Amino acid sequence: MTSCTVCGLPPMASYEISLHGEATCVTHQVLDRCALCVRPRHADERNWARFTSTTVRCPTCVSVAVDTQQQARKHIPRVRADMVALGIELPQRVRVTLVDPDVMNPDTRSLCLGRTLQRVWVDTAVTDVLGIEIAGGLTETHFCATVVHEIGHAWLAQRGAVNLDQTLEEGVCELFAGAWLKRQRTPFADTLRRSALENPDPVYGGGYRLVREAVVRHGIAVVLDHVCARGVLP
Ligand SMILES: [Zn+2]
Ligand SMILES: [Zn+2]
Ligand SMILES: [Zn+2]
Repeated sequence: MTSCTVCGLPPMASYEISLHGEATCVTHQVLDRCALCVRPRHADERNWARFTSTTVRCPTCVSVAVDTQQQARKHIPRVRADMVALGIELPQRVRVTLVDPDVMNPDTRSLCLGRTLQRVWVDTAVTDVLGIEIAGGLTETHFCATVVHEIGHAWLAQRGAVNLDQTLEEGVCELFAGAWLKRQRTPFADTLRRSALENPDPVYGGGYRLVREAVVRHGIAVVLDHVCARGVLP
């Protein structure tokens, strides 16, 4: 049995489980939560780190964090290779840059972990992908899954699938991230994938469930060809 993250004892009858599988008795007073794994923080815990100016990361997430461009570079070749194995290869390679999560999250209602910068040429309607930005300080698994999600946006743009319905676009990208997480075969990756599938957000969670249903019915190749050629699900 694991021990409680706050008191170090076997957890009480009622306890919470973080996305890493760590237990915390529900009886401890909660100051705030880890932005990445939802672990509760007790007021006495000092070894937590900042994520954005209004959010924090627990020691477990910090121990596997991608905080620098150099750390990011270590993971990107494996992510690209995994994507190719899943049949997703970018016609033009796109640069991945770590950015301050505060720059990406000027408003704090929902947390944005990555974004793909695109430029649309009005006269030709051609979309260029300028680059991918990922929030610094994510766990390795969050980082890689977010890169995969953003490569999904770049791939759709480079395949000419622009002006998609937002639910469909985010759903395809979440499907790619989910497929990558599934390949990792780690409990944390499985938990992240499950939480993405259960995400109540109608665009991200709803889109993922919609696209996944179509893939179960028609297969991934048919779904992606249909989305790229006609801009809708088969
Ligand atoms: Zn406890
Ligand atoms: Zn955490
Ligand atoms: Zn997205």
